[in-house]
Amino acid sequence: MITDSEFDRQHIWHPYTSTRDPLPCYEVESAEGAEIILRDGRRLIDGMSSWWCVIHGYSHPVLVEAARRQCEKMSHVMFGGLTHSPAISLARLLLGILPPSMQHIFYADSGSVATEVAMKMAVQAHDDPRRTDFATIRCGYHGDTWNAMSVCDPVTGMHGAFGAALPVRYFADAPKCGFHDEWDPADFLPMQRLVEEHADTLAAVILEPIVQGAGGMRFYHPQYLRELRRLCDEKGILLIFDEIATGFGRTGRLFAWEHAGVEPDIMLIGKALTGGFMTFAAVATTHNVAERISGSSAKCMMHGPTFMANPLACAVALASTRLLLDSPWQERIRQIEDIMACRLAPARQFPNVEDVRVLGGIGVIQLDRPVDLGRFQQRCVEEGVWIRPFGKNAYIMPPYMAVTDSQLHRLCDALLLLVKEINQY
Ligand SMILES: *Cc1c(COP(=O)(O)O)cnc(C)c1O
Repeated sequence: MITDSEFDRQHIWHPYTSTRDPLPCYEVESAEGAEIILRDGRRLIDGMSSWWCVIHGYSHPVLVEAARRQCEKMSHVMFGGLTHSPAISLARLLLGILPPSMQHIFYADSGSVATEVAMKMAVQAHDDPRRTDFATIRCGYHGDTWNAMSVCDPVTGMHGAFGAALPVRYFADAPKCGFHDEWDPADFLPMQRLVEEHADTLAAVILEPIVQGAGGMRFYHPQYLRELRRLCDEKGILLIFDEIATGFGRTGRLFAWEHAGVEPDIMLIGKALTGGFMTFAAVATTHNVAERISGSSAKCMMHGPTFMANPLACAVALASTRLLLDSPWQERIRQIEDIMACRLAPARQFPNVEDVRVLGGIGVIQLDRPVDLGRFQQRCVEEGVWIRPFGKNAYIMPPYMAVTDSQLHRLCDALLLLVKEINQY
């Protein structure tokens, strides 16, 4: 009989992998707090929050208890014609912490599905066959489903593999003015031109506010969003903020729009919504958008997945969000930001490092070439940490409500060491 690890290698797809010669996968037995425990007993300090969602750490007793209680009542029931208290309590809580103009919640199964829903909403809200296009900025990431892919960065995203199968979108150069830089009005000109050129056909502009995540780990200037809000209003174009990665404190504010103080028409949340316990997402809209969809030719929002508003996911999301709001999250993220800023700074002197940047619970070392992932991961495991770079970015996004100072120091030390070693490969 082949071993589990051989079976996995031969028969199971992992994210973005080839079946022919996949890089090794490490088998996880369990995870608790900020640690991932491998089957062979080795413990790794988690620097990824399992792709940015596990904010309270793994197996948090409050979330486990919320799931257990909900399981005993009902883990699922359809949402057509039925409703339930986990969905209602969660929506009440969310509408209290989202931008004030958000008045309606659509629950979706994952971030990518939420992107699809938001784009459908924008088209339906216009209800105009000429207004079906979308604009965005380069270096973005909005998910892996069809329409979500179409607005991901056309170079680092999946346009190469899908070509003409993807709908054509309009891309403005990514903002260059960094979060802490002095604002340069020229930074907005590419978007200004793009929107003016296509003002009559755009349904919406979609982008990640402040932090572009999987498309490049870039932090841009809040003024960009203020300019964009003004322009969209002027042209009657909807503005969609994808806060799937930035939500629930990751950038130092509860949601990233707060850095700019401008509200979108449609907003997406996901990832940390359940504290990383399970997949779940939501799309919030203004009353105006909801009214326009309801008054459109279809008369209703044309989407309704099987597991919409899954009670188990709602119950865990409710527990996770309450746990966060009841904690000193803002203070903790500020401490983490300070530690990372201080401990990662020496990497600026390394010959292979282009940039070091930190915002909230995100610390990025940008290298001058793509990281050799297999080698890097092997060294991570040897050093007792879990960090998974992509492209030229080696970064840490620790589970901020679980990681201790000493764990964070070890993560930073390991990241510096591994980045330094790349020179010797
Ligand atoms: C991860 C992510 C998505 C996609 O979410 P999934 O749950 O992986 O489908 C969409 N937008 C942003 C900004 C993300 O970071």
